Amino acid sequence: MKTAAMAPIGGERWTMGREAGAIVLSHALPKVTYGKGGASEGAVEIKPLCAILAAIMESKKNQAMEEKTLFQKIADREIPAEIVYEDEWSVAFRDINPQAPTHLLVIPRKPIPSIDALTEEDRMLVGHLHLVAQKVAEQEGLTGGYRLVINNGPDALQTVPHLHLHLIGGRKLSWPPG
Ligand code: 5GP
Repeated sequence: MKTAAMAPIGGERWTMGREAGAIVLSHALPKVTYGKGGASEGAVEIKPLCAILAAIMESKKNQAMEEKTLFQKIADREIPAEIVYEDEWSVAFRDINPQAPTHLLVIPRKPIPSIDALTEEDRMLVGHLHLVAQKVAEQEGLTGGYRLVINNGPDALQTVPHLHLHLIGGRKLSWPPG
């Protein structure tokens, strides 16, 4: 039995293709075959319905996971922004709606949604983001001081679900914040 034009569905576990004129869904699980002659010409091989639905859901989940955040698109230069610093782990760029003469966003390349989503694995990365902020503040000439802000969650008005430090300076800032 020859297989032609096999295409992956939802990752590598499922493939769809044509075998002797029949549409065949293949999976690591054993196949269930309907039609005369099994895999012979004209036969259609399908999986149990629930397994197919599970594969579709898995495919949608993969799709969602693969979708880039706004800030990943900026880091990957798919969306324009004035990038002032970047390295292997982080990127710093100017906020599109600055709240002070200097308003930068320092982000990890890793798409961590928020402070709440941090894990032990991110310990070094979080420290690194602060050192980047320090470096960029110096680069921007913020000798009189500056503020680092992280909004976490809806009550703090976080609008972009990709961890970012606001680096704000270049004027006297008031306290407490709103
Ligand atoms: P948050 O409210 O999540 O703490 O901050 C998100 C920040 O991202 C806001 O200050 C907003 O102005 C900035 N921002 C949103 N979209 C863009 C964009 O497309 N480009 C840039 N450079 N900044 C953005």
